[in-house]
Amino acid sequence: MAHQETDLEKIAGRELPAASELAGRFVLQHHDHRKTDAQYGKIMGNLGFGVDFSDYMARATWTADAGWHNKVIEPYGSIALDPGASVLHYGQEIFEGLKAYRHDDGTVWTFRPSYNGARLNYSGARLAIPELPIEDFIASIVDLVRADQRWVPTGQGASLYLRPFIFASESFLGVRAATRYEYVVIASPSGPYFTNGFKPIEVWVDQKYHRAGPGGMGDAKTGGNYASSLLPKIDAHYRGFDEVLFLDAATNSNLDELGGMNVFLVLKDGSVKTPQLTGNILPGATRSSIIRFLEAQGTAVDECTISLAALREGIEAGEIQEMFACGTAAVVTSIGRIAGENFDLSLPNNTVTRHIYDELTSIQLGNKEDSFGWLYQLA
Ligand SMILES: *Cc1c(COP(=O)(O)O)cnc(C)c1O
Repeated sequence: MAHQETDLEKIAGRELPAASELAGRFVLQHHDHRKTDAQYGKIMGNLGFGVDFSDYMARATWTADAGWHNKVIEPYGSIALDPGASVLHYGQEIFEGLKAYRHDDGTVWTFRPSYNGARLNYSGARLAIPELPIEDFIASIVDLVRADQRWVPTGQGASLYLRPFIFASESFLGVRAATRYEYVVIASPSGPYFTNGFKPIEVWVDQKYHRAGPGGMGDAKTGGNYASSLLPKIDAHYRGFDEVLFLDAATNSNLDELGGMNVFLVLKDGSVKTPQLTGNILPGATRSSIIRFLEAQGTAVDECTISLAALREGIEAGEIQEMFACGTAAVVTSIGRIAGENFDLSLPNNTVTRHIYDELTSIQLGNKEDSFGWLYQLA
C-alpha cells in the first residue's frame, strides 16, 4: 500500500513565508567577541561533527504571562541556570536537528524546516512543553544562519548543523510541568557524521534493553530516549560494533530503530521495507523523504512490522540484500553487518543505499532539481 501522508508531512507541506519576510523576529545583539580569524580558520579547515560552535545562538523565553518573548540572536556562550531548574531533575527537554547547506552559487539553504518545526511541537505536546509557532521556529533559523553565515561550510558532506532545543528552566522540585522554558538554537559547522566515508557500519541488535516502550516517549525527540540508549551503545562498542538496533519493548521481537536513526531494508526485487510508525519510533524527516523519493521513482515501499526472525531468514536466504540507517546527521549509512546474541550476518551489497544517498544529498546541495519543494532558502 502506498505511503499515507502523516500529520507532520501535512504540516511540512504547507507554503512558508519567504525568509525575507520572517527575518528580524529574533533581534541581533551585536558584539565584538566573534572567534578570531585564526580560530575560524582552524575550525573550518578541520571540520568534526558537533564539536565546534559558531559565533551566535538564538534564544527566546516562555512564561505563562508573556508566552514566547525576548527573541534574540546573541553571542554564543554559557547559559546561567538555577540549580533547581526542573530540566536538571526531571528531564523536561526536547530538541531538533537540521542542517544549513551552502550551494555552489554561495546561497544558503535548509531542508524541510517546517517538518522539524512541526515535530518540535509534536514532541513538546508529549512532554507538556508549550508550542512554538512554526514561523518563529523558521525565523530563529533564518536569523541565526544570517548572523552566522561565515560558518556555513562548502564541500561534500559539510554543513552548518543546527540544534534547536527547549528546556524547562523554572526552579522548583515539585513534579509538574514547568511554568518557564528556554528555547535555544546553536549551530555547529560540521563535516560528515561518520568520518570513514561510506564504509558500512556494523550493528548490534540489543535483546536486553529498549530505548522506548508503548505509551512512552519513543516518537518524541527528547533527551530521555537518548539517555536510555547510551548504556546499550557502550555494550555494543565493547563488542566491537558501531551502533545499536533496538527491538520493540512489547514483544522484544520486532525492529524499532537505531538509537538516533531509522532503519530500512532493500530486497532482492528492488523493493524496500521499513518499520511502520508505531508510536515508539521517531518519525524521521530523512525516513519520510526517502519513502517519498522512492515512491516517486516507482519503488515499492512497505511500512510494516519487521520481525528479527524474518530479518535473519531474509538475509540468510539472500532475499534481503541491503540494510541502511538514516537521519539528518549521517543522511544515509550502509549497514554491512548485523549481529545479536546468537547470530552474526553480513549484507553483501550497498548499491541501492548509495543511490539513495546520492539522490538525497544532490537535492540538498542544489545539484539536482528539487521536484518535491523540500529546500528553503535562508540567505
Ligand atoms: C532525530 C532522530 C531520527 C532521525 O530523524 P531525522 O529527522 O531524519 O533526522 C531517528 N531516530 C531518533 C531516535 C531520532 O532522535
